[in-house]
Amino acid sequence: MNRSADIHFNSDGVPVSNQFDDIYFSVDSGIDESQYVFLQQNGLPDAFKSLPSHYEFVVTETGFGTGLNFLLCWQAFIEHAPRDCRLVFVSFEKFPLSREQLEQAYEALPTLRALCEQLLAVYPAGDEGCHRLLLADGRVTLDLWVGDIEQQLPQFVAQARGQVDRWFLDGFAPAKNPQMWQSFLFSAMAATAHQGTRYATFTAAGVVKRGLQGAGFTVAKVKGFGRKRDMLCGAFEATDAPQKAALKTEPVAIIGGGIAAASLSLALQRRGVNVTVTSRGVADAASGNPQGAVYPLLHAEKTPLSQFYLHAFSTAVSAYLPWREQHWFPGGVLQPAFNAQRQQRAEKIAAGLYDPQTVSLQPAGDTAAGLEIGTSALHYARAGWLRPAAMVKELFNKAGISVGISDRPQVDVQQKTVIAAGHCSGDIVAAFSGQKLSIHPVRGQITQVEATDATASLKQVLCYKGYMVPADNGLHCIGATFNRGDDSSDIRADDDSENLASLKDCAQQPWANDLTIISQRASVRATTPNHQPMIGRVQDNLYVFSGLGSRGLTAAPLLAEILAAQLSGGLQPLATDALERLQPR
Ligand code: SAM
Repeated sequence: MNRSADIHFNSDGVPVSNQFDDIYFSVDSGIDESQYVFLQQNGLPDAFKSLPSHYEFVVTETGFGTGLNFLLCWQAFIEHAPRDCRLVFVSFEKFPLSREQLEQAYEALPTLRALCEQLLAVYPAGDEGCHRLLLADGRVTLDLWVGDIEQQLPQFVAQARGQVDRWFLDGFAPAKNPQMWQSFLFSAMAATAHQGTRYATFTAAGVVKRGLQGAGFTVAKVKGFGRKRDMLCGAFEATDAPQKAALKTEPVAIIGGGIAAASLSLALQRRGVNVTVTSRGVADAASGNPQGAVYPLLHAEKTPLSQFYLHAFSTAVSAYLPWREQHWFPGGVLQPAFNAQRQQRAEKIAAGLYDPQTVSLQPAGDTAAGLEIGTSALHYARAGWLRPAAMVKELFNKAGISVGISDRPQVDVQQKTVIAAGHCSGDIVAAFSGQKLSIHPVRGQITQVEATDATASLKQVLCYKGYMVPADNGLHCIGATFNRGDDSSDIRADDDSENLASLKDCAQQPWANDLTIISQRASVRATTPNHQPMIGRVQDNLYVFSGLGSRGLTAAPLLAEILAAQLSGGLQPLATDALERLQPR
């Protein structure tokens, strides 16, 4: 169960924690103090200026708070680092501020307005675990680990050995928050450090000094900011410290032309990897549907799958942000509780299992949908719909990829190759490696109907057994049938009837009757026995990226980040057990 920040704003508009009786940043000069303590005393931005090509610079912070340190680091990185380098800023936060609290805090930071707005647009809900957010056109990544740092750090450390360039130690004063400044923190710093890793902290408390020295860091007491007497900074000096490994940028071939291939192309291109893509077509399977919903799949108890989708959803929101109101419309998703069983499930889901900013229960009679739905509903306020085919093309374009069209993709065993070909991925992998993966086809047909005077006012996606999307150019996409084991994409009148009947059953409203069918589209999706996507290495140079089921639009951006990190060696955005579950078996 997550807990949010309990704060008030003092008369200067500065946030103050009631939980820790301490301020988030200094009253008169929060920006100057942050810049002095965490950037300057850490050798930043100077170090940014001389980074080698395609360097992934990792900063790790204890206590995200308002994100002020992050915003300043982001600003300095963009100004000083070479264009082809990326900043990965990792921060831990037990009591995340709400979006409203952040907005209020940012009123005290007018000079950072533009960055604050970008962060607010993607700021995740406070559900536990790592939320990877892509910002500044992919040059800046924020990994926000929500939860108690003592529990979250070990999961991070397992992925981050030898990778952290700088530590910002900023969790309230040790006297007010002793729990954070313990040996687990100093040993995690050592475990993730490399030759040249530095740290800085506003405190000069003895417990911190001793902890750092014991873990192998030098400790220099330097003049503190403003009226503060001193602070600490230093570097990792263990003789056996590893060298930081450069990203591996050898070329990668991708087979596939849908949301998986497009997202991965962009993630790799951002890491300096040369990518070639070959496919039967571009967005020719489920990614070619005219409209698709993006929202997290949540269960009525916390399962690994719903955890995965919470994090995937955060990344997706940030990945699609550049196309907001162009191809991505985050106007909300509603799941009507149209029978007693659904009602029970909805109540369980909204009873505190997830952050209310992720999902909440909307009472019957609410008019936010723009259409009468008659029952209460789960409301995913930050979710929405997008135009998948257009998005796939935009992602390939951004990655500078022109897809080579071929019916018979070839695998060159000398080159790293990713099979991202939906349900065909299993056969392609088998043909080139002899390995049989559990990837199965699921046929789905969508039906497009004409918007009526009533349905044209629908503002949010309705999700039930199927889904109905707000009208786009006068047409609603109503989907989708789900036939396991069926890999044909012929058009079937029965499937249209099934789509419309399912909508009628759920809505039980006059507007759901007598809708006029305009067109339909059938495609085949790929699924796995445990419904987890399947990504990773099969053998030698052969990798797979498949099993996205009917949730590829939500899952693909995070999966692409994971696979790109696996291929190029950068920082992974997930806990080890979550990564394990995605591996091909
Ligand atoms: N770096 C922040 C900024 O730029 O606004 C200020 C951080 S504030 C001084 C300290 C933060 O540490 C608070 O947001 C607090 O909730 C968080 N914190 C305290 N104890 C924690 C713990 N055990 N695990 C994770 N975060 C914690």
